[in-house]
Amino acid sequence: MPKAFFIDTTKCTACRGCQVACKEWHNNPATETKQVGTHQNPQDLNYSTYKLVRFSEKEVDNKLHWLFFADQCRHCIVPPCKEVADMDVEGAIIIDEETGCVYYTEKTAELSDPEGPIMACPYNIPRKDPNSNRLAKCDMCLDRVQNGMKPACVQVCPTGTMNFGDYEEMKELAQKRLAEVKKTRPAAVVGDPDYHRCFYLMEYDPGLYYEYAVASADVPGPHDRRSMLANVSRPFK
Ligand code: SF4
Ligand code: SF4
Ligand code: SF4
Repeated sequence: MPKAFFIDTTKCTACRGCQVACKEWHNNPATETKQVGTHQNPQDLNYSTYKLVRFSEKEVDNKLHWLFFADQCRHCIVPPCKEVADMDVEGAIIIDEETGCVYYTEKTAELSDPEGPIMACPYNIPRKDPNSNRLAKCDMCLDRVQNGMKPACVQVCPTGTMNFGDYEEMKELAQKRLAEVKKTRPAAVVGDPDYHRCFYLMEYDPGLYYEYAVASADVPGPHDRRSMLANVSRPFK
């Protein structure tokens, strides 16, 4: 049965347990960083960092808010990255039939143009390993899920921000939480739920969280990267 993540950002405390658990489960090395005056660390996703808690400090209704966004691959139902890769090396990017996970295989190292799938992603997710030339991103912890376990980031999240389960159940949970949150935050949305297996509830305009929070044409950002999905994906409102 297809699976999905529902990420309720209203509950996130930016503890970054999910980020660390992702590294630990995949045995990925730490990224050397330095303090640059933000809670976000490292500054961006990279080939060994598949999950990143993004931090944004914004003024809404004359109050300063800290907004956290646990960024990862959205596991698009029709993934633009795969459509581009298929034209280059068949089987470089596959979709797991059981879960719907969009999975990057070792064949991504054979892509003649690895920038193609990277540029096709409307969420700015894939990264290239400069040593192996493989493309890397969240793999839904497929090895855990296939053995009846939750993804590592979901398992460790102490606040209920990270949810994972059957796709329809996650969509129902998202709708329910959205209705609750809207009572006090009328601008709340769930970003892109009908076309992805990872969707986020946000209390405020998604553009305040991160420029690639949703693949929406009205969020500031490079339009060419997101235009493929902007026409088909719309948030719950
Ligand atoms: Fe937020 Fe949960 Fe990740 Fe902590 S583990 S940063 S609460 S999503
Ligand atoms: Fe990382 Fe697994 Fe969570 Fe994806 S599902 S972000 S690979 S821990
Ligand atoms: Fe591919 Fe980006 Fe969609 Fe993930 S979010 S499946 S990397 S297009």
